[in-house]
Amino acid sequence: MATIKASCLCCGLVELSPADLTLMVCSHAPLSYYSFKCPDCGSAVRKPADDHVVSLLISGGVPAIVWDLPAEALEVKHGPALTYDDLLDFNAAISDDDMLAELAGAGS
Ligand SMILES: [Zn+2]
Repeated sequence: MATIKASCLCCGLVELSPADLTLMVCSHAPLSYYSFKCPDCGSAVRKPADDHVVSLLISGGVPAIVWDLPAEALEVKHGPALTYDDLLDFNAAISDDDMLAELAGAGS
């Protein structure tokens, strides 16, 4: 079985088996990454994986999991960003049981 060397921010270089790694290959290549749990300190480590890293990991026996980025994630957003006040207002609106009951009963 191949030994794969990767670096942990806390421990430096660590040795892993292919089963220790998760390789997530995205349809939007810059978002591909690999991750593992450091065998020394237990930290969760996640790093970007460019085409070269993806090829190396696959050739080392790490199975690739392909995922698609939802199209809306790359949409250009217009208008002002939501604020904390907007979220608080929204939370207050959906927390109003009387309003929800009224809406639920509106169709009957
Ligand atoms: Zn570590």
